[in-house]
Amino acid sequence: MEYSKGNIESGLTPITSPWMDNLFNQGALLTDLLEKYGSPINIHQLQSFSTNISIFREALDNLDLSYQIYYARKANKCTSLVKRAFHDKIGVDTASFKELRQCIKLGGNSENVVLTSAIKTSDQIELAIEHQIPIILDNWDEILLTIKTARKLGKKANIGLRISGFSVAGEKLYSRFGFDIDSIRDLIFKDLKELEAEDAFDINGLHFHLDGYSTSQRGKALSDSLELAEDLSQQDIHIKFIDIGGGITMNYLKDEDEWNSFQHKLKDAVLQNNNTETFNNNGLGFENIDGVLKGKLNTYPFFNKVNGVTFLEEVLHFKNEANLSNASRLKSQNIQFRMEPGRSLLNQVGMTVAKVVHRKRDAKGQWLVGLDMNMSQMMSSSADFLLDPFVIFKEEASGPEVDVFFTGAYCLERDVLLKRKITLPNLPAIDDIVIFVNTAGYMMHFFETEAHLFDLSTNLSTSKDSSLNLVDFEEDAM
Ligand SMILES: *Cc1c(COP(=O)(O)O)cnc(C)c1O
Repeated sequence: MEYSKGNIESGLTPITSPWMDNLFNQGALLTDLLEKYGSPINIHQLQSFSTNISIFREALDNLDLSYQIYYARKANKCTSLVKRAFHDKIGVDTASFKELRQCIKLGGNSENVVLTSAIKTSDQIELAIEHQIPIILDNWDEILLTIKTARKLGKKANIGLRISGFSVAGEKLYSRFGFDIDSIRDLIFKDLKELEAEDAFDINGLHFHLDGYSTSQRGKALSDSLELAEDLSQQDIHIKFIDIGGGITMNYLKDEDEWNSFQHKLKDAVLQNNNTETFNNNGLGFENIDGVLKGKLNTYPFFNKVNGVTFLEEVLHFKNEANLSNASRLKSQNIQFRMEPGRSLLNQVGMTVAKVVHRKRDAKGQWLVGLDMNMSQMMSSSADFLLDPFVIFKEEASGPEVDVFFTGAYCLERDVLLKRKITLPNLPAIDDIVIFVNTAGYMMHFFETEAHLFDLSTNLSTSKDSSLNLVDFEEDAM
């Protein structure tokens, strides 16, 4: 058995880890796993998760900050990762009743769990108050519900306020979440005072989570939050933590030139009305309107020069008008820094493995390779997952080279797993194996459905990174 990356020339080559490269060379083992657990399987390497944690930790230690990292659990459903997070002494950000309850069962407590759900039902609030887990409140109704619940339980709630509407470079950032920064002082100093709810909760923190991936927006939002904390302390409300949420970028791709030339080629093809790069002329966000190129690439920015720690450092080194950095103000104001990375903690943690079921030629003469998986098992809000896949050929690849699209099991024309055309050294055979790497963040689970009554994919975890055997994988119970 030998493996090959798709699009050896002019592709989008993913960054891979030794554990992935080792598995590409263990085709027999992957065949056994697919036999045992069905197709597709999601494989997680927990040591990579731990490495990501320690890299963030080292950066924050170097800045001498008091901090807590909360892994945003919604990015992946596996309990193995939650257990590893607690084992590695970081926290978990939960966003539903079940996420919260499960984290508490696995040892979560007021120090290492936070509740940030978009919709907070009373059962969530009750459970959080019982365990003194910080609740990040988003609106007035949640405030009232929290007060009511706290009084019923006879316990004070531990709360943070989610803030939005920060002004950055003269523009106000819209969000459907949070309290508006421009009215938060009134809300706290007037409306909340009138409620006389000091018995029901303490405002311990401020929180934001911004859409998009701008470090300057996050830097400014943190700076404005520090200023708000200062104002609050003069009214005897002492903010103990500020949480900047997630959205810390990760880099999926090896080569910036490949990333640029892919976009260049796609734009050109759309503009020439001759797009053979993608399935059925999908512009991935680009459109040709009367000969003019409109739109923008509607995917995650898979290549990011600033990512992970460098992204975080840009946010923390952001300076206010008095030339004081966020990091130094966090220290002088004695505030704990918190963040909730999901995707970036899952960098290099997972891969999705599926089996080839059929090959066919469509009426346009294109090769379609049908996999035993469906579009919901590798889906994001992106128009496409722009990483070349890997194929393990059971027979030696002897050509001829072929362009293929991988298709999935849902009865939808659009169940094409990658919209981008993939060139392979030869046509895969039935039971050959296709691997999509770095899928742990959002791709595996966020949109997975059971249409057609297909089983959900099996999730396996391991801590080893070479000479793996069947027994080295643990199935996730969830
Ligand atoms: C989604 C989300 C996160 C995690 O975002 P990533 O982009 O995965 O880092 C963190 N906090 C909140 C409130 C979120 O909604």
